[in-house]
Amino acid sequence: MEFDKEKWMQMPREIYAGHGVINKLGEMCQRFGLKGRVLVITGEKTYEIAGESVVKILKKSKYDVSVIKTGMASRKNLSEIKKAGKKYDFMVGVGGGSKIDLAKKASYDLGIPFISVPTTASHDGIASPRASIKTNGTSMSMEAHEPLGIVADTEIIMNSPYRYLAAGAADVIGNITAIKDWELAHKLKNEDFSSTAYGLAKYAAQEIIENADMIKPNLEESAWIIVKSVIVSGMAMSIANSSRPASGSEHLFAHALEKKAPGKALHGEMVGVGTIMMLYLHGGDWKGIRDVLRKIGAPTTAKELGVDDEDIIWALMHAHKMRKRYTILGDRGLNKEAAENLAKITGVIGR
Ligand SMILES: [Zn+2]
Repeated sequence: MEFDKEKWMQMPREIYAGHGVINKLGEMCQRFGLKGRVLVITGEKTYEIAGESVVKILKKSKYDVSVIKTGMASRKNLSEIKKAGKKYDFMVGVGGGSKIDLAKKASYDLGIPFISVPTTASHDGIASPRASIKTNGTSMSMEAHEPLGIVADTEIIMNSPYRYLAAGAADVIGNITAIKDWELAHKLKNEDFSSTAYGLAKYAAQEIIENADMIKPNLEESAWIIVKSVIVSGMAMSIANSSRPASGSEHLFAHALEKKAPGKALHGEMVGVGTIMMLYLHGGDWKGIRDVLRKIGAPTTAKELGVDDEDIIWALMHAHKMRKRYTILGDRGLNKEAAENLAKITGVIGR
């Protein structure tokens, strides 16, 4: 048989993480050989936090800078940015999740480079090749590109609300069940598998788990650990060329819960609770993961998520339908009794 394997992956070319690294943004753009006009995508709040500095730094490096202060990652905002972006040579996204997603997707569609300047690390999108854009109320993961560069300033990130950081940590902890689901899909459905991506995704989650004591408010080290893990998680997705290593049944649950009770909890918070329950189904150490989530101050119950017990049950019963992705939930999902039992046993509901 002839050799017929092939593989394509995209990685960021430079990553700057640490205290005060925002000041290196101009030099980074110059090293990339970027010239001309740059469009900075940010929000009202994130402009004050970091956008304004980004503009100054880019101007100092002789770039012609314009700013769009946008809102949520909706189709409408995306098309506005794409329309405006036609005149520019590259884009810089400055913000938490939505601004990065908008800049990433718009620059990808326009075929221009994109640089990511996260102001928080609430989910693993800051360093992944995918963008999540809201369509008719639900978030859709869309094909985009990796940032050419990432500038993750831990001083800025540390000052974002701690709740976002804890959610980012919980999102990466979700890799624990995502890789188990992936292994299962590989064995049962012959799905493509990469042991390199598997190993990286696992490592990212373990970094959070092992350093859980260091993840707390007002400690810059927390931002460092989370940013590092989020970036490694993004690399795992790049290598797999899919979100598979970082998104399994725990994400299906989170998507279903977002659909049932929109806007109640952060993405990563729902992923964390999903991870506890899905790890129970996998026969793993769900209590250990629950304790880690408690330690870092992420929700572990319906009450802490701000949703009703019924929402959890509904999400468990409908999670398998959220997207075509084989997981421990199988093709049919859980019935009502099984969903209730699972949520009760793991202490997610009924307390
Ligand atoms: Zn996620």
